[in-house]
Amino acid sequence: MKFLLYASALSFVGSCATISHKEKIQEITDNITIEQPNKILEYANTITAAELEHNLYIFSSDAFKGRKVGSPGQKLAVNFLKNYYISEGIPSPFEGTNYFQIVPKSFIGSDYNDSENVLAFVKGSKNPEDIIIISAHHDHKGIEKDGEINNGADDDGSGTVALLEMAQAFKKAKDEGYGPKRSILFLHLTAEEIGLLGSHYYIQNPIFPLTNTIANLNIDMIGRVDKYHKDHTNYIYLIGSDRLSTELHYISETVNATFFNLELNYKYNSENEHNRYYYRSDHYNFAQKGIPVIFYFNGEHEDYHLPTDTPDKINYPVLEKRTRLIFATAWQLANQEKAIIADKY
Ligand SMILES: [Zn+2]
Repeated sequence: MKFLLYASALSFVGSCATISHKEKIQEITDNITIEQPNKILEYANTITAAELEHNLYIFSSDAFKGRKVGSPGQKLAVNFLKNYYISEGIPSPFEGTNYFQIVPKSFIGSDYNDSENVLAFVKGSKNPEDIIIISAHHDHKGIEKDGEINNGADDDGSGTVALLEMAQAFKKAKDEGYGPKRSILFLHLTAEEIGLLGSHYYIQNPIFPLTNTIANLNIDMIGRVDKYHKDHTNYIYLIGSDRLSTELHYISETVNATFFNLELNYKYNSENEHNRYYYRSDHYNFAQKGIPVIFYFNGEHEDYHLPTDTPDKINYPVLEKRTRLIFATAWQLANQEKAIIADKY
């Protein structure tokens, strides 16, 4: 009886709140002006399935031996990222050719060696102090006892190569006079697989003040299609977009509706969803600090965390489209007149 009374009182409050909520949503949606739509498309189109595939076949090759935290294979992987940024002329936020934030073994755990977050930076032209972080983890599970290599092509090679392509697109835009007004930090995190430790270290040792970090778009597995979408692959799961910033959610929706028309699926965003994905990748550490996040995810598949997560199984056209969506969302966040705020934090 008490529960029912409580529930009906709640629904009364809910219905009152709904009206002003709807008005607020309308106001937010009306105020979203897509910034330089032709330029968004022009540079989004430089992100191609062929380049994603080329980089992913290297990044998830046997040579990197499953990229276990602190292992020689993981060192090869971070050097590949660093060399990519150097060759593309994309700077780091540090001096010279240092692209690494060392995450010491004292932080990670004594079973591991020191590891690295890898950072690249496209400085904003108008509000460079405002930072948008696009992240993906570079580490994976290493080698099985029987010698099989966990290539981690989807987890998270897909997110890793998406960052490389987006950085290249933002750099090209900047070179041609259309650089972002706010800064973009490309953050390749280590030690996600053993407890979100690279992102935990970053929020404790941020390179730019967290108070100026206005959003984190985190990518973990966007190259595959799950069993629910075999016949309609034009989808992506979004998690967290509405939890801290009302505006972020509607910006994401508007950008998608304007350019891409992917099915944005919020199934895993529900508070009571038993998989608890919201808590299971690096964005969560940023959300804990009040930074609005979107986690992009393709759902689990039969090769999840197995040596069979290989680059031949990636759907590259789908990966391309999802990467373009994230790029366009970041572009909007970086260029719109006012920075988004965490109104729900
Ligand atoms: Zn992952």
